[in-house]
Amino acid sequence: MDKKELQKLKKELLVEKANIEKMLGEFTTENPTIKGDYKSHFHSADQSDTSDEKAHSVTDSEQERAVEQNLELRLREINETIKKIDENAYGVCEKCSSPIDVRRLKVIPVAKFCLDCAKKVKLL
Ligand SMILES: [Zn+2]
Repeated sequence: MDKKELQKLKKELLVEKANIEKMLGEFTTENPTIKGDYKSHFHSADQSDTSDEKAHSVTDSEQERAVEQNLELRLREINETIKKIDENAYGVCEKCSSPIDVRRLKVIPVAKFCLDCAKKVKLL
């Protein structure tokens, strides 16, 4: 990948990062960066759904936690990938240090391993 493509990718990652942080902000009340900002977690616009939501409250909170964990995982991947772009280490396999196929990176921009290593990691 050339520099231009990398910068474009970084920009896309930064946008996704901002979106995820925003979504996470709606889930978590303990956000040290916006202390005391609890009022924003009331979704007054969603009140029409409450009767439906009450019946599924347990499932919903479990689902919410799963979504939150996924978002956090995704956020970590994105942060690691942005760091790699900044350090000119992007697209290198973390396991065998060989370059990752560009076609693979186009499909999975946050890929850490080359295809061979990814297969081995999955087998472990
Ligand atoms: Zn590898």
